[in-house]
Amino acid sequence: MLRIRNLASGSSGNSTLLWTDETAILVDAGLSALQIRRRVEASGLEIEDIEAILISHEHIDHIRGIERLSKRYGIRVYANEGTWLGIRKDVENRGMLKDEMVFGDIRITGFPVPHDANDPVGFQVMHDGNKAVVVTDVGHPTKYLKNALEESSVIIIESNHDVDLLKNGPYPYYLKQRILGPEGHLSNEDCGKVLGEVINEDTVAVMLAHLSEHNNKPELAERTVKEYAGEGARIMLTGRGAAPEIRL
Ligand SMILES: [Zn+2]
Ligand SMILES: [Zn+2]
Repeated sequence: MLRIRNLASGSSGNSTLLWTDETAILVDAGLSALQIRRRVEASGLEIEDIEAILISHEHIDHIRGIERLSKRYGIRVYANEGTWLGIRKDVENRGMLKDEMVFGDIRITGFPVPHDANDPVGFQVMHDGNKAVVVTDVGHPTKYLKNALEESSVIIIESNHDVDLLKNGPYPYYLKQRILGPEGHLSNEDCGKVLGEVINEDTVAVMLAHLSEHNNKPELAERTVKEYAGEGARIMLTGRGAAPEIRL
């Protein structure tokens, strides 16, 4: 069984824990090392159980804890070359993220996403014939994204903002343009559209992640996504603190 738990989501920090009886990994570590350790322990694991941290891109909300996690607990951190170039942290155990990686009985493949970072990726996680996808920070839907999401049993995906709330909200113009741009963040509507193309009765769970605090509301994200993905879609939301565990 593959277990998945989003430990944190949003601009204050992102991290997702995935584990089996054999191994445990984190996708991103955007909280402090202490917060990550606490949330890993609250999931029934020890921080030393974490075999690897895989980094999607170098923005601070995805890497905040990696320096201390690598130094203090010896956890190896994997990022691709472009992402490492953007990481200004003294990480001790550096690994090079490859297109395909195997940790115990989990196999991981990365895929490119459009976002304003050096070489950002999303992750497909395969275990026992099942697939889960963890993908945040996506400027717009691409064929790579759709391919990755197809036949995925569990999807954790960004549903960042409502376009009207963002346009009429408090952010300065340049920031609005950045978020709305092709290498910014995924709107509720775009998220719903791509989910509408890929989910079906075999989809176990869809978790909406990286919701903007200022430019979104959880119920609005869920409602908008369901407009496109169907009322029957098994939508979950990340909230404050760790989300419920998903089993696959
Ligand atoms: Zn980012
Ligand atoms: Zn982010």
